[in-house]
Amino acid sequence: SYPIDVEAIRADFPILDRLVGGDVETPGQGPDDDTPLYYLDNAATSHTPEQVVEAISDYYRGYNANVHRGIHQLSQEASVAYEEAHDTVADFIGAAGREEIVFTKNTTEAENLVAYAWGLTELGPDDSVVLSEMEHHASLVTWQQIAKRTGAEVRYIRVDDDGYLDMDHAAELIDDSTAMVSVVHVSNTLGTVNPVADLADLAHDHDALIFVDGAQSAPTRPVDVEAMDADFFAFSGHKMCGPTGIGALYGKEAILESMQPYLYGGDMIRRVTYEESTWEDLPWKFEAGTPSIAQGIAFAAAVDYMEEIGMDAVQAHEELLAEYAYDRLSEFDGVDIYGPPGDDRGGLVAFNVEGVHAHDLSSIVNDHGVAIRAGDHCTQPLHDKLGIAASARASFYVYNTREEIDELIDAVTDARDLFA
Ligand code: PMP
Repeated sequence: SYPIDVEAIRADFPILDRLVGGDVETPGQGPDDDTPLYYLDNAATSHTPEQVVEAISDYYRGYNANVHRGIHQLSQEASVAYEEAHDTVADFIGAAGREEIVFTKNTTEAENLVAYAWGLTELGPDDSVVLSEMEHHASLVTWQQIAKRTGAEVRYIRVDDDGYLDMDHAAELIDDSTAMVSVVHVSNTLGTVNPVADLADLAHDHDALIFVDGAQSAPTRPVDVEAMDADFFAFSGHKMCGPTGIGALYGKEAILESMQPYLYGGDMIRRVTYEESTWEDLPWKFEAGTPSIAQGIAFAAAVDYMEEIGMDAVQAHEELLAEYAYDRLSEFDGVDIYGPPGDDRGGLVAFNVEGVHAHDLSSIVNDHGVAIRAGDHCTQPLHDKLGIAASARASFYVYNTREEIDELIDAVTDARDLFA
């Protein structure tokens, strides 16, 4: 049994019923015809339930129009739905209201928005930006490059041998020179759940801001940005049953208010002359040009879908599957699993099988219809630190079952036997 009704949930995802494969004989060339799909690559992107697909098709079939500027009825309908989607997302993460929610393309764009709009003007040679060694490239590369342009110093909070942040080191690194702390909430490689509220306290003790990368946390557990006291928080729709092309940046209202726009153009202005321009209210000041309207509306449908399941239950399901996968993978000799123990992690497990390259492993696993990810998961410096070039990663979501993890284990056994 599970904390959620997995069978009912699976029925909402037609893609899970599809078969994969073709007419192949050689190992590593893909599955045979008519192999069921076991999708364990949810940290990369999740699937989309009927309810969300319907929200997209309802929009295009029923009220497709540009937002904000039209007086005609279709534009009004689209505007209301698009704007209310911001309220839904605000509610989902405990923000005060739509003025604190900027829709972006994804988490990466949200990081860049803050780095450019806030970092370029606020950072200088006397400042430091504190990241962690487990940051995703979305945060690491962005702050690294903005620091180069502004002369700011970048510091990295150490990750210890068990995959946890060294909080003593964090307390040393975050000092009065620190202007920004940017940390991942749940690591997409280690599965570590970081103590972001404690890091926010450390940052605020030194008048620094904190940006929390919620790409793996918002989809998998209850989030309350006010309780964690994040100044910024970002996540992507496509990792939580929503479409691609839409994500959200949360920012405290006063901070967003104080920032200059990131992109200029239509929709974000109030009054323009040949000499001057003034800006629209939040959040529209940061949403220049025609936004991703259908995606924004469908993002809210995805939030509704997740809330219907209940985020506490989603988290319980994730933890159950992570622990099961961790335990089963631990049965192998010669399997390295990265990050904290099975009973203290988010719903993903990255690992290597001795003597088998992660890419080979992933393609043999694919022969079984099992979809996992192989590579550096956009954490190259962390992989360097671990002394590995790549790892395989299985990641779980609301529709996954223990039986699918058993399939993974059979497939890994097969790969090990083939290469051993
Ligand atoms: N941060 C983390 C922790 C992630 O897992 C991801 C997605 N792999 C991102 C940021 C970037 O998300 P996106 O590609 O949707 O911008």
